[in-house]
Amino acid sequence: MTNDLKVHILECGAMGSDIEQMIGSPKYRATRHDHNRASTWASIASHAVLIEHPGGTILWDSTVNRNWETEWAGTGLADIIPYDQVTEEQYLDSRLRQLGYETSDIDQVILSHLHMDHAGDAKLFDNGHTELLVHETEWREARAFEGFFSGGHIKADYENLDFHTVSGDIEIIPGVKLIETPGHTWGMMSLLVDLPNDGPIIFTSDAVYLEETLEQRHWGAVVWDNQAWLSSVDKLLALQEKTGAMMVFGHDSKQMATLRTAPGSFYS
Ligand SMILES: [Zn+2]
Repeated sequence: MTNDLKVHILECGAMGSDIEQMIGSPKYRATRHDHNRASTWASIASHAVLIEHPGGTILWDSTVNRNWETEWAGTGLADIIPYDQVTEEQYLDSRLRQLGYETSDIDQVILSHLHMDHAGDAKLFDNGHTELLVHETEWREARAFEGFFSGGHIKADYENLDFHTVSGDIEIIPGVKLIETPGHTWGMMSLLVDLPNDGPIIFTSDAVYLEETLEQRHWGAVVWDNQAWLSSVDKLLALQEKTGAMMVFGHDSKQMATLRTAPGSFYS
């Protein structure tokens, strides 16, 4: 652990979606017993995390591209999960600038997975300096499917970028660990940062969409492997139990409103 370690949560607005996209639970779906359940349009928060470390400046995830309506053309996603609850100051590059960074100042960008709402701005970091990192299985499979998109993967977000890959649960720099949590996608990773003052924080990304996911234990519309997903949820709960970590969920607007967010405040 180092006393110079800081974690900034970059709150980048929200997508809108039927809550059932996030939790396919009978609580939200029409069922055998209730065919007429009304749908609920929910706010699906989007965030990235900036880690200031004596060994370098690391960005976790890259949210959604500003040009999402164009980039997502032909996928149907713009209707199902539009990124339309966002202001100019909430876009990723604006958030970085509010902290004094241009995209080329970032040493490493680690993507939890390559879905369009996490890899959407990866291209901003194709600058000859920033190292791009993703799980090796994610990198392999996200380029292996036929066509230009599948589920939440849009090849144009990542296929022409030069990614370095990792595998296993590994400490990439003291106090910062990547945890394999497959299921949502092939090579989904979560992040554990061990902070000297605020203690450990687990950033689950889409391994756990919402706090309510832990209670409902139902996956959303896009999950590659249900059993692997449940095992990864249990792995994160065990890690939380062992470390006493706070868990920051992938898309939880209710939780986001309770967190310290940039540029006003941070975790250290
Ligand atoms: Zn995802």
